[in-house]
Amino acid sequence: MQIRYKIALQFTLIVLAILLVFSGIVYLRAETQRRTSFYDRLSRRAKTTARLLVDVKEFNTTLLKLIDKNSSSRLPEEEIFIYDYRNLLLYSNVEKIAPYVTQELINEIRLNREIKLHYEDRAVIGMVFEGRYDRFVIIASGIDKNGAIQQKKLSITLLFAFLGGVLTTVVMALFFAHQSLRPITTINREIGEITAKNLRKRIHQGNGKDEIAQLAINFNLMLERLELAFQQQRQFVSHASHELRTPLSALKTEIQIGLTTVNSSEEQLLILQNLLNDTNRLIDLSNGLLQLARINETAEDLPFDKVRMEEVLLNAQREVTASHPDYQIQFDFDKIPEEDYLTLVMGNEALLKNVFVNLLENACKYSSAHQGTLRLGFDKKYCIVRVIDRGIGISSTDLPNIFQPFYRAKNALDYNGFGIGLSVVKRIIELHEGIITVTSRPHLGTEFVVKLRHMKEEVK
Ligand code: ADP
Repeated sequence: MQIRYKIALQFTLIVLAILLVFSGIVYLRAETQRRTSFYDRLSRRAKTTARLLVDVKEFNTTLLKLIDKNSSSRLPEEEIFIYDYRNLLLYSNVEKIAPYVTQELINEIRLNREIKLHYEDRAVIGMVFEGRYDRFVIIASGIDKNGAIQQKKLSITLLFAFLGGVLTTVVMALFFAHQSLRPITTINREIGEITAKNLRKRIHQGNGKDEIAQLAINFNLMLERLELAFQQQRQFVSHASHELRTPLSALKTEIQIGLTTVNSSEEQLLILQNLLNDTNRLIDLSNGLLQLARINETAEDLPFDKVRMEEVLLNAQREVTASHPDYQIQFDFDKIPEEDYLTLVMGNEALLKNVFVNLLENACKYSSAHQGTLRLGFDKKYCIVRVIDRGIGISSTDLPNIFQPFYRAKNALDYNGFGIGLSVVKRIIELHEGIITVTSRPHLGTEFVVKLRHMKEEVK
């Protein structure tokens, strides 16, 4: 469950509990008050009746009944019974003796002086009334119809208030949880955008005061340390490969001199030739490492310009065939561009040439005929270059990994190489916000497709 929902749920549960307790207290308080006030009224009615009967000599029971019936303070379903000291019924305002009026009840009232009880939905009060010559027992009862209606209305009001309160709380809780977690969502999104390749990015530090801001500040500090570590590591590789170049070149020259010396034996010549091959490999490796380190180091500061793809491809083709005279590269167009801008991209010419030199060298290197095809095309959005060969191909298990630094497929191990070229290619294409894809079938050949966004309008 997401934290925002957890917070909202907990908040709702707390408010729900408070509302329940509050409604319960209000309801119970109203109920006791209703009962007390009804018993008060009952008691007053009983005492008035008794006083009229006992104290005023002129009143007889018939007259009292008549007054009772017409009294405005008469309670609903009111019943009054008055007993003398011998427990004989002296007065009753109803015809029948109620079932709750028993000898035991009368005795108990005499004993306790006052008793309150409930009989079905009727409130009953019994009390002792002291006359001048006698001690009477009065039992009065009635049904608090009005009070019950009021109580029902109160419970409906409380129920609606409770439901309304819960609903409002749920909405408010969701809103406030969303509001208070918004900075975290923002930080999360910003962190998601930070990769090893754009460690320079920093996340927003909000107001710089609260806990979330503190988190962002600490995270930025950590990024700074990471960036420094990455930078140092890149610089190390860059420096190391740079430093290796000078002794390697010297070594190569010395070996070449050794090879041209006339009095060397055949064995010595073989050893020197092997040494030369190994030195060349070491030079290639240090060049590759230098390329890899530099592309990451200087990536963000590279100058971009309008680049014509035909020129880049021709230069790459020329460079490859110059260094490998046995390589053959065919260059053709998918379709002839009618508009100039279709093959014009924003980019760094040297790096883009590097991409196609790498891809073309691979195409020729990994095919027995040392042949590759370069095809230029375009669509509405992209300028599209395909590098195709009919070489050894790449198996489906190797295909997802070939852009990883130093990864080499099993079938490529007999060929010279270090597995650096394609990772440099990928990085350069990423810098140009382009797309590179590859399809390949073992023993049949490979096709690399590079898509770079072309310019939108005709360039004058
Ligand atoms: P290298 O060619 O020096 O090994 P790359 O980074 O250029 O390094 O290529 C990585 C791996 O991808 C290669 O070792 C090879 O297995 C595979 N590969 C790349 N291009 C081709 C190709 N045109 N045909 C077959 N395999 C290829």
